[in-house]
Amino acid sequence: MKPLARWSVRHARALWRAWAALSRLAMPLAPALRRLGLNRVEGWLLPVERRLKGALFDCRMCGQCELSATGMACPMGCAKRMRNGPCGGVRADGSCEVHPGRACTWVQATAGDAAIAPGHLPGWTQRVPALDARREGRSSWVRVFEAPAAPAPVPAPALAAAPVDSPLLMRQRRGEFIVTVEIAPPDSPDPEALLARARPFAGLADAINITDGAGANCHMSSVAAAAVLRAAGFEPVCQVACRDRNRIALQGDVLGAAALGVRHVLCLTGDDVSQGDHPGARPVFDLDAVTLLHTLQGMCERGQFASGRRLERPLQLLLGATANPFVPPFAERVANLERKIDAGARFIQTQFCFDLDRLRDFMDAVCARGLHRRAAIVVGVGTLSSARALRWMADHVPGVQVPDAVTARIAAAADARAEGRRIAVETIHALRRIEGVAGVHLMGHKNEATLAQIIVEAGLRPAPVAHAA
Ligand code: SF4
Repeated sequence: MKPLARWSVRHARALWRAWAALSRLAMPLAPALRRLGLNRVEGWLLPVERRLKGALFDCRMCGQCELSATGMACPMGCAKRMRNGPCGGVRADGSCEVHPGRACTWVQATAGDAAIAPGHLPGWTQRVPALDARREGRSSWVRVFEAPAAPAPVPAPALAAAPVDSPLLMRQRRGEFIVTVEIAPPDSPDPEALLARARPFAGLADAINITDGAGANCHMSSVAAAAVLRAAGFEPVCQVACRDRNRIALQGDVLGAAALGVRHVLCLTGDDVSQGDHPGARPVFDLDAVTLLHTLQGMCERGQFASGRRLERPLQLLLGATANPFVPPFAERVANLERKIDAGARFIQTQFCFDLDRLRDFMDAVCARGLHRRAAIVVGVGTLSSARALRWMADHVPGVQVPDAVTARIAAAADARAEGRRIAVETIHALRRIEGVAGVHLMGHKNEATLAQIIVEAGLRPAPVAHAA
């Protein structure tokens, strides 16, 4: 962020007030300017707006300015074009996942919000709509003078969507602890390679997440892998990342997943391509996780695509989202969660929890806003077999924080793998005592047998009975 843009964030309150006063003063001119022609007015305003906002805010002229909702920090400076809160990859020092030398735009935005209204963030849970690519490069100022648009008619769903038959919802309603696990699809077209990873969880996990190009590495498609699991009698959670597809492809893929029997979709923005094995790929980020959720919610509840066109039949899905309470900006994390729940998320899976104190602070805020009653909060737990693997993960997996005490405990253990398992079991026991935590989400790359063992050792599910051949 340039020095003047940092100054603008520090003086966000004064700039926000100046903008509000100017817009009020300009409003009486609107009818006359509309008669003159807004295209002509835009021709006068555009060069001034570009220079002034470029200098003050490092503005990228998206044409849909939301500076007053983002603490006067331009969200278009974010490498993933996040307009509804930070991604989960912010580094511990508040720098960007993609550009480690730069402060995360949303760390700046949170500071600007606090300056505008200390203790009460304006637009805290307000959802910023998806960008309209047609407006990029055009004036936002001229929009102040546009006639208010008539509200779009909301078509009734062609068929009322039936409630989703979800084991996660059933567990939550019965007050039982949810268990989900995550597996990566194979680097192979062989469904057996995928099923071999899923089998250790038969009878132990309520649902199995299928990652979507996790870490920006290429694997079997999450939609296809979820369909393979469903056909084999498992309950898949199909992860859908915004990194690789625009809104047309995302909606089409989710329709396809539903046609193949998928009932749970987890919406993510996704790790940046620079983290993976195809760093030269073009990242898409047409939507962020919040706008993807809102789009899919529209397909479920309103029976319509993002364009407003009607579906022949509404989607029947339980939508989920991720949260990362363990990285800055902490003040924004609960707001971001609330935006996701407002946009349709009914279950939330968090990043790896190695820091219970941080999680307790987060859950206190979640419960104070009643969010745990609107979505099942499922906390990520993992295990790793060595201190070296833990350090590698902390250094290379965006958004994972491992306290030094945890690494030191594993490094000092005679059997590091068993100690990692013990830490995971202790964490699960502690999570069961935290108000609002609805379950655990176990993760561990190619560690399926260990994860299954942890589920049993933590007393979450009884060990499956081995049948004689
Ligand atoms: S850390 Fe994430 S949200 Fe923050 S600027 Fe970087 S990509 Fe954007």
